[in-house]
Amino acid sequence: MKNSFKFAVAAVAATLACGAFAQDFPAKDRPITIVVPFAAGGPTDRVARDLAEALRKPMGGANVVIDNAVGAGSSIGTAKVARATPDGYTLLLNHIAMATMPALYRKLSFNVANDFEYLGILNDVPMTLIARPTLPANNYKELTAWIAQNKGKVNLGNAGLGAASHLCGLMFQNAIKTEMTTIAYKGTAPAMTDLIGGQIDLMCDQTTNTTSQIEGKKVKAFAVTTAKRLTTPSLKDLPTLAEAGVPNFEVTIWHGLYAPKGTPAPVLAKINEAVKAALKDPEFIKKQEGLGAVVAADKRIEPAEHKKFVQAEMDKWGAVIKAAGTYAD
Ligand code: ASP
Repeated sequence: MKNSFKFAVAAVAATLACGAFAQDFPAKDRPITIVVPFAAGGPTDRVARDLAEALRKPMGGANVVIDNAVGAGSSIGTAKVARATPDGYTLLLNHIAMATMPALYRKLSFNVANDFEYLGILNDVPMTLIARPTLPANNYKELTAWIAQNKGKVNLGNAGLGAASHLCGLMFQNAIKTEMTTIAYKGTAPAMTDLIGGQIDLMCDQTTNTTSQIEGKKVKAFAVTTAKRLTTPSLKDLPTLAEAGVPNFEVTIWHGLYAPKGTPAPVLAKINEAVKAALKDPEFIKKQEGLGAVVAADKRIEPAEHKKFVQAEMDKWGAVIKAAGTYAD
């Protein structure tokens, strides 16, 4: 057989196999794993578990499970997905860290732009500045006075370099020109436990993790990080950081879904369609909105828009991080 003919036959066979595979995707007997690169019970995990439930029906009843692959500000879980078999059965749900990690880490084993397929933005989540319940301050002014009195002794929890809480904490320290001791956890779920217990003083975290703790008076809340006040009943009285006296402080955390590069296009299309349906699920919307999140719609769920947005965020936060001069190896 001539070589060119052999290659043509092989190419046709591969296309047919891929088509058949895509047609059968997802197989009834194989779970789809969403890798969450932060601790269970935290805000990223929360979005993933709500999404997994909402995906089940549009994915034809498939079992969607969560794998918390934690550590190093989400770079461990993200690397795991970059290396996974590109067959649609391993996905990654990550947040703004996809745009901050390239500037924060000198060495990453993956390339955010080249090693992933983009499956859509899922939501936008505001952050809140919160403190241990015993901290003797009851508003933002008293908080900054307390920080000034305790210079050198204030602890700030976060979910590791590149995490949303790290970024927000970095911006807060820059804004008030005060360096704090940062304590890195594998996610803000364990950090929240320590904040409630008084082992750390402060944290900046997504409303999807903080709303119920604020409502239950387990933590003190001082401000929100969005340009406008929130409408969630238990958060609507919190000032924006700009109102509280920190101009130009605006940070909103978005989450996105990814697959390893090379996942077949028909499989990606099926997942993207299912994501679009899940984001319209009234139960999913109700759960997310109740925690202060805004579910993504329309163009934002398109893979090309998602990729464009991540690049723009990389440029934006890369400049902020460079100015702050924070790096990890
Ligand atoms: N809220 C965390 C962060 O700071 C992530 C998490 O624990 O889910 O990025």
